[in-house]
Amino acid sequence: MAIVFKWPWLGIAIPSLLIASIQLCAHYLFYRDRADQTKLVILAALVWYSYYLAIYTSPGHPPNNYTVDKSQKPQKQWYKYCSKCKHYKPERTHHCKTCRRCILKMDHHCPWTMNCVGHENIPHFMRFLTWVLVAVSYTFSFLVRKLSSYYKNRNLPAYLVGKKELALVIVCTLLCVFILFTIGILFLRTLFNLISNETTIESWERERVHSQFYTEKFWTKVRANYQRIHGKPLPELTSWKTNYRELRRDSQIPPNFSYDDLVFPYDSGSTFQNLCMALGPVHLWLWPWGKPKENGIDFEKVSEDEDQLNLPWPPDGSNYDNDPSDETTVSSWINDLGETLDDFGVDLATEPYEAPKDI
Ligand SMILES: [Zn+2]
Ligand SMILES: [Zn+2]
Repeated sequence: MAIVFKWPWLGIAIPSLLIASIQLCAHYLFYRDRADQTKLVILAALVWYSYYLAIYTSPGHPPNNYTVDKSQKPQKQWYKYCSKCKHYKPERTHHCKTCRRCILKMDHHCPWTMNCVGHENIPHFMRFLTWVLVAVSYTFSFLVRKLSSYYKNRNLPAYLVGKKELALVIVCTLLCVFILFTIGILFLRTLFNLISNETTIESWERERVHSQFYTEKFWTKVRANYQRIHGKPLPELTSWKTNYRELRRDSQIPPNFSYDDLVFPYDSGSTFQNLCMALGPVHLWLWPWGKPKENGIDFEKVSEDEDQLNLPWPPDGSNYDNDPSDETTVSSWINDLGETLDDFGVDLATEPYEAPKDI
């Protein structure tokens, strides 16, 4: 479920307060133990600077005069039009209802940075999560050593144990566990998406397609899209798997095509290449100013030979429908985590494909 604050600045104040509290506790405890604080200072600086860049770096917006090349045959993308920005959207772009702008390769709107995560700032976002995990893990390992020394000395007389310090160590350890757990999940989720060259929104879209893959409604739309784009009926599809489903005689579902045969057009097939496309060259992944490779408007796609369907993503044209009672449509569908497209910050009013007739 999406987190929406009554006062959006709380989204930055809460993590800042958490980070600052752990940092202060760690400095104090390091000082008491006369431990070297150099690494702690460097890691804290990296966390704060990467957070600053994640908040203030633009996610990337389409140029005002952006338009689509409709001479491409077959059509390589859906011609999406933003009724609020009054221009076409490049592929993978969505309009954010909070930022009130179109965002290139939109991943999601992040309440914790008061900014969208998109094409140009996702490397900053990932670096921020990385440095938080590294810095908190470093502090956590120090705290675990402290706790184990308390345990070893448990038989000492009570007046020799600093109770305030022990309480501080326990509170700080719990805070570290909370941050490692929540940020760890967010980091892994985003990383797994980047490994397939997907945004969080596209990963949700893939789950939607997966859930509707063996339905008549999905394939009716896919067949209609194919006919419109290629000017001929969808040819027979082949699979390395056998479909044991019982299909009606007039079924729209192809008998020999499984979800595993469906190609996500932006996935190069190589984990390393996919990561480089989102985060830039490998030597810049941890560099504070590292940028992604592509321009956020045009993206490399798999070749037509590899993609049997040969349709823009998603193949059912996003299944957009204004009927909110239909739970299979993009405006109402909910994934296993209870997330709708609206939860990622997308302005659903700008999602219908195709420009108005007079554009
Ligand atoms: Zn827009
Ligand atoms: Zn936004």
